[in-house]
Amino acid sequence: MRIVVDLNRCQGYAQCAFLAPEVFFLRGDEALGYRPRVPDDQRERVGRAVAACPVQAIAAGPAAGADVD
Ligand code: SF4
Repeated sequence: MRIVVDLNRCQGYAQCAFLAPEVFFLRGDEALGYRPRVPDDQRERVGRAVAACPVQAIAAGPAAGADVD
């Protein structure tokens, strides 16, 4: 599964990094980094992060583009 984070929308609240720390991480002051290809064992956690993001900045699956896996 692929994900894309709209970094213009992201406010750095870090709920995603708390819920799925193997996929989302903060770099320095509020800059969010992430792994665009989500490992299968992280899908459930990423789903929770998508739901928890207060500004709906995370797109997952088809909404994030073609899934080549
Ligand atoms: S939860 Fe949403 S706003 Fe917060 S860091 Fe993650 S993507 Fe950005």
